[in-house]
Amino acid sequence: MIVIKLLIFIIKAGYKKFGLKSGFMEKVSNKILEKIDNNGITKREAYFLAENSDLATLKKLIKLANSLRIHNKGKVVTFSKNVFIPLTNICRNRCKYCGFRRDLSSPEAKILSPEEVLKIANLGQTSGCIEALFTFGEKADSYPEVRSFLMQLGYENMIDYLHELCKRVIESTGLLPHSNPGVLSKAELKKLKDVNASMGLMLETTGEVEAHEFSPGKHPAARLDTIKSAGELKIPFTTGLLIGIGETFKDRVDSLFAIKELDQKYGHIQEIIIQNFKPKPNTPMENWPEPSVEEMAKTVALARLILPVKNIQVPPNLAYDAIETFLLAGANDLGGISPITKDYINPEAGWPIIFELEKRINKLGFQLKERLPIFSEYIKKDFVSFRLKDKIFSKILEVEKNSILFM
Ligand code: SF4
Repeated sequence: MIVIKLLIFIIKAGYKKFGLKSGFMEKVSNKILEKIDNNGITKREAYFLAENSDLATLKKLIKLANSLRIHNKGKVVTFSKNVFIPLTNICRNRCKYCGFRRDLSSPEAKILSPEEVLKIANLGQTSGCIEALFTFGEKADSYPEVRSFLMQLGYENMIDYLHELCKRVIESTGLLPHSNPGVLSKAELKKLKDVNASMGLMLETTGEVEAHEFSPGKHPAARLDTIKSAGELKIPFTTGLLIGIGETFKDRVDSLFAIKELDQKYGHIQEIIIQNFKPKPNTPMENWPEPSVEEMAKTVALARLILPVKNIQVPPNLAYDAIETFLLAGANDLGGISPITKDYINPEAGWPIIFELEKRINKLGFQLKERLPIFSEYIKKDFVSFRLKDKIFSKILEVEKNSILFM
């Protein structure tokens, strides 16, 4: 290890000072890639690979990521059939790429009523969905108008309202909630664990980016703190990176290591999403370029090399044309796919038809398999809420039955 570190240092210094040829860089990359195991590469090695992958190295990196993925995850590609419940589009943040948020004064600002939520959830159940995905603007109740609206419904705040809605959805449909309400306190997470099979919060990036200038909730420390609290509470947790919002490759490596460090401590990160930025009309970043397929593939491969045994997700509706490339770069999960509701955060990106997706995946020699919003490795004591235990076991049987129909 020390020898490799020293070698990297000397080569990097030499490259900067004397312009050493790329052949030397390739040799160092090869050295790093040759010795990888399930502990993953070190941060210094990841920086090196992130900064120095020419096409030949990138190809090797991807090949290795794919074999690591096959070694740890087999040839199965998982997804969760979900119904998307956009509980509110009111948000305290103003991310410069967001097309979902609405100002309070907008006629499109909305908080779904319990009747609306149950109507969507029922539709989800009859369409064979397993997961009720609650998405949010963050801390909408920091606005007094929202607070008084919730008071009229009989709730003190958004988290109490969400808890009640999750409870009703579980009782009346049997769907398993997965909520993404943004930054939360430990007490709020504890309350929500009771009614959620798993929860999520995108870290997005540990870098300070202009896109988050007016988004206090996107401060990396606040988000890492929520992910840490979820770990202390043993909540199966989904997080990930948003690629192409002004962060550097070093930021991406730092973000992946920040996630890895929390997972090593608490073991609760069930998957890491590598999501590509998509510009939205009428936002400050509408003309911002999307990340290239190479950039995405390199990030997916680095994620696999840094976190060899974890589930790595790419969202199929945002990366439809390049799905094969990203799966071959080490991804093993496609996240939620909804047969009935659109992706309200990315409404321009339609969901793929599951059977068509399956055909493409089969051509790679992989198999598509439905999963629950809680990954199977987390269906164990302490990670599963007592209220959801029986429901989760009955859903396992349902998914197995669907898989037989599916084949
Ligand atoms: S991306 Fe999320 S946190 Fe940011 S403004 Fe939109 S809804 Fe709010």
